[in-house]
Amino acid sequence: MKLGNLVMDQWVEGDGDGTVLCSAVSGDSVARITSQGLDFAAMLDYARNTGGANLRRLTFHERGEMLKALAKYLMEHKREFYELSTMTGATRSDSWIDIDGGISTLFVFSSKGRREMPNDHVYLDGAPEQLSKNGTFAAQHICTPKLGAAVHINAFNFPCWGMLEKLAPTLLAGVPAIVKPASSTAYLTESMVKRILASGILPKGALQLICGSVGDLFDHLNCQDTIAFTGSKTTAEFLQQHPRVVSESVAFTAETDSLNSSILGPDALPGTPEFDLYIKEVTREMTSKAGQKCTAIRRIIAPAAIAGDVVSALSTALGKIRIGNPASKDVDMGALASQGQRDEVRDRVNELSHQANVVFGGRDEFDVIDADAVKGAFFMPTLLHCEKPLSSPAVHSVEAFGPVSTVLPYDDLAEAIELSRLGAGSLAGSVITNDNDVARELILGTAAYHGRMVVINRHCAAESTGHGSPLPHLVHGGPGRAGGGEEMGGVRGVLHYMQRTAVQGSPETLTAIGRRWVRGADQNDPGAHPFRKTFEQLRLGDTLVTAEREVSLEDIQHFAEFTGDTFYAHTDEEAAAKNPFFEGRVAHGYLIVSFAAGLFVDPDFGPVLANYGVDDLRFAKPVNYGDTLKVRLTCKQKTLRAGTGYGEVRWDTEVSNQDGEIVAQYDVLTMVATDEHWGSVN
Ligand code: NAP
Repeated sequence: MKLGNLVMDQWVEGDGDGTVLCSAVSGDSVARITSQGLDFAAMLDYARNTGGANLRRLTFHERGEMLKALAKYLMEHKREFYELSTMTGATRSDSWIDIDGGISTLFVFSSKGRREMPNDHVYLDGAPEQLSKNGTFAAQHICTPKLGAAVHINAFNFPCWGMLEKLAPTLLAGVPAIVKPASSTAYLTESMVKRILASGILPKGALQLICGSVGDLFDHLNCQDTIAFTGSKTTAEFLQQHPRVVSESVAFTAETDSLNSSILGPDALPGTPEFDLYIKEVTREMTSKAGQKCTAIRRIIAPAAIAGDVVSALSTALGKIRIGNPASKDVDMGALASQGQRDEVRDRVNELSHQANVVFGGRDEFDVIDADAVKGAFFMPTLLHCEKPLSSPAVHSVEAFGPVSTVLPYDDLAEAIELSRLGAGSLAGSVITNDNDVARELILGTAAYHGRMVVINRHCAAESTGHGSPLPHLVHGGPGRAGGGEEMGGVRGVLHYMQRTAVQGSPETLTAIGRRWVRGADQNDPGAHPFRKTFEQLRLGDTLVTAEREVSLEDIQHFAEFTGDTFYAHTDEEAAAKNPFFEGRVAHGYLIVSFAAGLFVDPDFGPVLANYGVDDLRFAKPVNYGDTLKVRLTCKQKTLRAGTGYGEVRWDTEVSNQDGEIVAQYDVLTMVATDEHWGSVN
């Protein structure tokens, strides 16, 4: 059976016989793979012109809903992915990371898109910048989707997660993807893409799949396309230097090799919870997914005085790992992805063994449960010990992409930091210590070499996500050897597929472009109190200027007694005057905010359903008794919560005194009924 290529929403077989793909467990052939004969230029055009156009019609919220629907759909069909996943050598828990982990990435990005991005087509990056004295000229950074295709080239180890972690932010950005999975496990990716297509959830052109070589695809890239690559540093360097990538400045994100380290703190002696946690964490990282994780711990940096204890505890733990057919319940660790990968790991261990001693594993013959040890790509967990890690470059540069790790002893924290940095850039690092001063020193000493770091101790271990789990909320990537790229990290990951543009103009123009009212833009008279208006009736710039209210000493005294906030600045004239900011007793900030609400609310039953908070509250100037307050409330931003009967309305709020000086400013956040909901209850 030849794997399908998804080309312009059609399943197409490549020409020729292709390459045979084999089960990692039995060695039997699973499928053939070829992409020969595909029209790669046409695929790019289809992505740009059909997929991109369809996606850009949707708002961020609509794309978020689409991701959620897709996640739910894939969850319903996940059993079939689990079945295929076994053939890649993955145990059930390995598959859980790949399949459920991948699907949960869709859920997280769906939620981020709907909560942290507007229900619109443009994302505003930061607040407006005031550029002129009179406020008639300002600027706003905006992000809009790139008008090209996102080419995703993925590694073999996570055929589902590897696709979905890139696809989620790409689609949320409004950009179509062309996915090229690594050949050896592409049959699992293909089966998931078949399901995605069958779901009908994605618009036409949003997703295409290449099973096999990318042919001349790179020759047709342009400056609007992006490449997100995961794999070896060698391939990344080769592709980054493609003439078209260079001449068109095609954005290129790379996630490559990584000799991640985990440092055991000097406090974590044998017998402490941290020592036990360390052994557990390293063992798990070495053996889950048979060590084929880009984030796995490759370098075990431990205090020299207890390095022997670490070696012996790890050897005991690794000795309990049962290797074999990942479909069997009795198995803890499955096979590597292919025979070729097994040979590769064996070669790398040989290379490492010139500078470190194999202290556990490393044998070609070992027990394999319910599988043929010769036909399957099994490899024994292998631990090495390097006595002089500072003068052994191989242990910091040779990555055996399997269940292999090396113990590196250190004498003091400075040396631990130096050893960690010798990895020359990692995706993930960890520190196991119950001493927070040690944690700070190690993190500050090594963070510049890492994309993500986790500190684990007895207090967080039970809920910790562990050393090696990339999370959609957090940045995944790293400097140097790790490729210098960055993926995920919440909305940050979405912005990789968008162009950031600084737009300058009048506040009125910026309001129209960004659909967020900018100070200095027109303030409309809404004709009635804005709280009498439904979500649809409100216009950006609708403004209420309230009546005035004087603040008396009695008000301040009453508020102090009523709330219990008897801070001296509000209750003790003499003490308040000693404070460099005040001349005497001043009003509480929260009294100002409360009086402001008393001035601007319309009390009657109306479309405003609730006030759910304030943002960016600042008290700009003290309010003395005898001062008079007045409020300007302007409709700043509207975000429809589709299907809920309401939308969120943000109000730009300024409280000023009798001299027109601003004493407080903030955004009031409300939920306002839609026409439909208001009509049904009123
Ligand atoms: P690889 O050979 O670089 O392959 C990675 C991807 O690049 C595969 O899809 C591969 O396709 C494709 N590829 C190879 N040559 C290409 C070319 N000339 N043009 C276009 N695409 C090309 O990496 P690997 O050896 O399979 O993977 C293991 C490495 O990946 C390890 O070193 C590991 O550290 C790294 N990795 C990194 C991460 C991370 O997030 N940083 C994650 C996983 C793995 P084919 O399979 O069809 O050749």
